[in-house]
Amino acid sequence: MTIDIQHLNRLREIVGPQGFLDQPGDLAPYVADHRNLYRGVTPLVLRPSSTEQVSRILALCNDVGVAVVPSGGNTGYCGGATPSADGSQIVVSLSRMNKIRSLDALNYTLNCEAGCVLAGIQTAAEAADRFFPLSLGSEGSCQIGGNLSTNAGGTSVVRYGMARSFVLGLEVVLPDGRVLDSLKALRKDNTGYDLRDLFIGAEGTLGIITAATFKLYPKPQTVVTALVALKSLEGAIELLAQLRTASGDAIVTYEVMPRIVIDFELKYLKGINDPFDRKHDWYVLVEVQSARRDPALSDAIQESLSAAIENELASDALVAQSEAQRAAFWSMRERIPEGERHAGASIKHDVSVSITDIPALVEEGSTAMLKLVPNGRVISFGHLGDGNLHFNLCQPEGMDRAKFEALTPQVNRAVHDIVAKYRGSIAAEHGIGRLKREELAHYKSAVEMDVMRAIKKALDPKGIMNPGKVI
Ligand SMILES: Cc1cc2nc3c(=O)[nH]c(=O)nc-3n(C[C@H](O)[C@H](O)[C@H](O)COP(=O)(O)OP(=O)(O)OC[C@H]3O[C@@H](n4cnc5c(N)ncnc54)[C@H](O)[C@@H]3O)c2cc1C
Repeated sequence: MTIDIQHLNRLREIVGPQGFLDQPGDLAPYVADHRNLYRGVTPLVLRPSSTEQVSRILALCNDVGVAVVPSGGNTGYCGGATPSADGSQIVVSLSRMNKIRSLDALNYTLNCEAGCVLAGIQTAAEAADRFFPLSLGSEGSCQIGGNLSTNAGGTSVVRYGMARSFVLGLEVVLPDGRVLDSLKALRKDNTGYDLRDLFIGAEGTLGIITAATFKLYPKPQTVVTALVALKSLEGAIELLAQLRTASGDAIVTYEVMPRIVIDFELKYLKGINDPFDRKHDWYVLVEVQSARRDPALSDAIQESLSAAIENELASDALVAQSEAQRAAFWSMRERIPEGERHAGASIKHDVSVSITDIPALVEEGSTAMLKLVPNGRVISFGHLGDGNLHFNLCQPEGMDRAKFEALTPQVNRAVHDIVAKYRGSIAAEHGIGRLKREELAHYKSAVEMDVMRAIKKALDPKGIMNPGKVI
């Protein structure tokens, strides 16, 4: 299905000569997703430089029935920013809309355009002696518009919540081109339905986010980072509760790693050292922050960890004594996907349940996966403090990759059924995109799906926004 040449020309005119790409080499980065699961085709990538241009693009597309795929940093894990294979969709990249519009240090707020790279926003906040807490492994390339559209999580959710929780106001271009401007910097605003939250996590299916106003926080003055070795997940959960109390609820990061990921890193990657003098079943990366200089915080963590070791809750622990040691602990956590890739293909799940149900989920889920793929290697790691695990199955050594990958639907269903049993989520932080559309329809209730479809129909009656994604 091709798009009328006249429509393409009118779209080019809206953005001017600097604002579009239409040569195959230039289009390439926009037609495949980060994990290379999907490959699409598009005749045109538009790179608008203003909200007004986005508005004119959507008004025209809505008028003539051209489908639009919004694109941020293209680091998403579910194929949400990849166009379809039939060439019928244009891509709108926000990357030229990358200005921090204002920062109000006294109101602790920052207003910026959707194409700002996440790391740039963190830096801008820091320069004003403030803190922007959203932090992900992809922060050097993902864009804030993509973060909001996926309601990204990351490594500070325990303390600060997901992307949604920092947003005070949004500017969104609706599918018919109208601009919904709710760029307020208010903490309190009970004036009817919360429209802002509709677009956060909508993965570009309800409109294009062009700007947002965010809450900022005081810059942390004390950071304590520890790596703890444990015998069990149950122990890790008990320790979390103890550390929350001991630190005055100052835990920002609580990330779990099983031994197998350290083995993969030691085997396949350079620059990783075994942190303790013997192997342990589980490891937890803990980070605690305070907005004031607080030497007592480090003492409290050390004492709590010593007590946990004495009581045999933890097996061993290291508190980082330098920035280099802290970086080494973080590197172990952040390089897990790299090590996993070297070990072979993986069938991945991004699931959440109540923290107390995590051990049961891991036990039952591992049994179910291994029944389907004997000798598969279970890798469950990630955001334990949020009840969110990346619960993956790596292919058995020596098994044919294609044969293993062909088992994906059965393995997904087995894991997701257990997640559903615990009233958990099959998409804790990466979203739905194209990857989990069928799973979403299977697990959401009929009423939830009806309400979602009604919202989609009300805002995008012609279905031009990111068709084929989410619902
Ligand atoms: C190394 C690595 C680590 C990661 N760690 C995490 C993690 O800890 N937590 C986590 O949640 N995710 C993580 N991710 C996934 C990914 O980085 C996030 O989903 C991120 O929020 C996507 O942002 P993006 O700008 O790349 O969006 P894209 O991939 O470009 O787009 C994602 C979705 O949002 C839509 N979209 C993009 N911009 C807009 C806009 N302005 N308006 C409307 N719709 C839009 C797209 O159409 C698509 O549906 C990680 C990815 C990598 C590669």
